[in-house]
Amino acid sequence: MGQPPPARLDSARSAADAALIPRFRKASSRGLWPGVAFECPYQNGLHIWEDNYLAEIVDPDSGEAVPEGETGELVLTTLQREAMPLLRYRTGDLTAITTSPCPCGRTHRRISRIKGRTDDMMIVRGVNIFPRQVEEILMRIPEVATNYLISLDRRNGLDVMTVEVELRKDVSRRDHESLEAFQRKIQRELKNEILVTPVVELVDQGTLPAGQGKARRVVDRRQI
Ligand SMILES: [Zn+2]
Repeated sequence: MGQPPPARLDSARSAADAALIPRFRKASSRGLWPGVAFECPYQNGLHIWEDNYLAEIVDPDSGEAVPEGETGELVLTTLQREAMPLLRYRTGDLTAITTSPCPCGRTHRRISRIKGRTDDMMIVRGVNIFPRQVEEILMRIPEVATNYLISLDRRNGLDVMTVEVELRKDVSRRDHESLEAFQRKIQRELKNEILVTPVVELVDQGTLPAGQGKARRVVDRRQI
């Protein structure tokens, strides 16, 4: 469903351009920052309204700017708002900015779709990891069922990450050797993505809690 066209159109805009307006979609994160960026007909990211907003991408931990193209937290400063300006407002949304040319001809930089929230971030052995990264890897493996659980512990001063993975019923009956090989395969694929080697435990389908979000997917026992 597209947005309805604005009530008043800039008269300088061509009819062709005006016809495209209903296809534009707003990038809004839970209504926090509507009108910050819009998708053009090429749909390869969202052009930031840079005459209204100064957008920065920072490392959520250090607050330092990250290199172009890298994912970090979107920080916004309003340029035209007078009564209630925002100065380097931390949105908590994770995304990346690209300056590469867009076929539509607009020169405003683009942000990629929101990749997650900073609140979901886990820091394991100094590496920033998001449950969504683990989920994306697991969901690509056909033998894996829908639920997984990440546990974080500290043993001898080192973070240990355990990923419990549900196997589909037909797979969990396989022999010990092939299950072990499968476990190593999951471990390898996770490591390639998150750069930390997790302990992988295979469990039967239906044994892990269902649901979405960090609350259901991550158990952090490191503070206890
Ligand atoms: Zn464009």
